[in-house]
Amino acid sequence: MPVPLLDVNAQNLPLEQELQAAFQQVLRHGRFIMGPEMEAFEREVAAMVGVKHALAVSSGTDALLLALMALNIKPGDEVLCPAFTFFATAGAVSRLGAVPVFCDICPVCFNLDVEDARAKITQRTKAIIPVHLFGQCADMDGILKLAAEHGLKVIEDAAQSLGATYRGRQAGSMADFGTYSFFPSKNLGGFGDGGMLVTQDDELAEFARVLRVHGSKPKYHHHFVGGNFRMDTLQCALLQIKLRHYADYTRRRQRNAAHYTEALSALPGVLQADPAHCRCVESQQAWLAKTEARLVLPVAYAHQEHIWNQYTLRVIGEGRREALRAHLSAAGIGCEVYYPITLDQQGCFAALPPSSRAGCAISHQMAGEVLSIPIYGELTETQRLEVIASIAGFVGA
Ligand SMILES: *Cc1c(COP(=O)(O)O)cnc(C)c1O
Repeated sequence: MPVPLLDVNAQNLPLEQELQAAFQQVLRHGRFIMGPEMEAFEREVAAMVGVKHALAVSSGTDALLLALMALNIKPGDEVLCPAFTFFATAGAVSRLGAVPVFCDICPVCFNLDVEDARAKITQRTKAIIPVHLFGQCADMDGILKLAAEHGLKVIEDAAQSLGATYRGRQAGSMADFGTYSFFPSKNLGGFGDGGMLVTQDDELAEFARVLRVHGSKPKYHHHFVGGNFRMDTLQCALLQIKLRHYADYTRRRQRNAAHYTEALSALPGVLQADPAHCRCVESQQAWLAKTEARLVLPVAYAHQEHIWNQYTLRVIGEGRREALRAHLSAAGIGCEVYYPITLDQQGCFAALPPSSRAGCAISHQMAGEVLSIPIYGELTETQRLEVIASIAGFVGA
């Protein structure tokens, strides 16, 4: 049986009747732009993540752009972000003429290395964008402390981590702004593009609301240049239905991850990443050498709730990642490299000052080792066992 990397129909089709009823409701009332379902969906997300304000927007990318605009990030300002993330994190910075300064990551959780960020702060640094990659939060205590010391604004890119927690706090709720995405591959996967911007700050929320509609306030009066960053009423109505099932979706992903970790860690040469080596590169390399690990499994930190947007292996050894990829593909098992090229190495950033692209060695190493395997909630036990058996075959068990 083939095991796709993601099967959106397995999650959406059981809801077909409810989704059609929602469509019919929007069709009939006809308020397609900023209609009642948008406001309801915003309230529901705000309540779920415990924030005062939530703004439904056109995408996770636009949520980042809008946050940066609302924080008044200007040409020439520097914004710290990880080198190992989806492009949008840095693309939004560049679109405002600001300079993304790429920071290295932790080889255990794949998230921003706070000490590297600290070393890259200059007079021009205005903000930092930690990304909660693959469903687990970055070191927010360290990031918020660093930001407070240097007067930096903080935007949490929680596109992959809606509902994840860090010491009991919700991903996206801890900083000036948090952003989410409803791209179909995210944990709350929509029917097209969509995103959300959240904040606890009344003034920032109000400014972002105005910028969402071309800076228009009152209508036809523009004191600021904004954009069209709205999310469709219809998309909100459909996602309201899925939001009711969100806790269940998360539990299923966590169950799948637990199954993988239990079964795969029993294989020869397969080890779970060790939180004790978080950000500690040398001891991490020594640990790898000592254990002769060939595959490293992801780990959820004890102080966090991981929502497993991806289950990402590290495949150790020259050419081994491509070999595992080919092995799984031959067995009809979907897998993907998130992300094969770090942002500091992207062509569009080649003209940035070298200092903004320096010192991302761990990011480069991870880009060469990572491989994500199917983790979506509706995977059956048979499918999981197939993935596990195929990996067992690869490591020679
Ligand atoms: C998906 C994603 C985005 C962008 O979200 P879109 O809704 O696709 O625009 C931004 N940052 C990260 C980390 C993402 O994974």
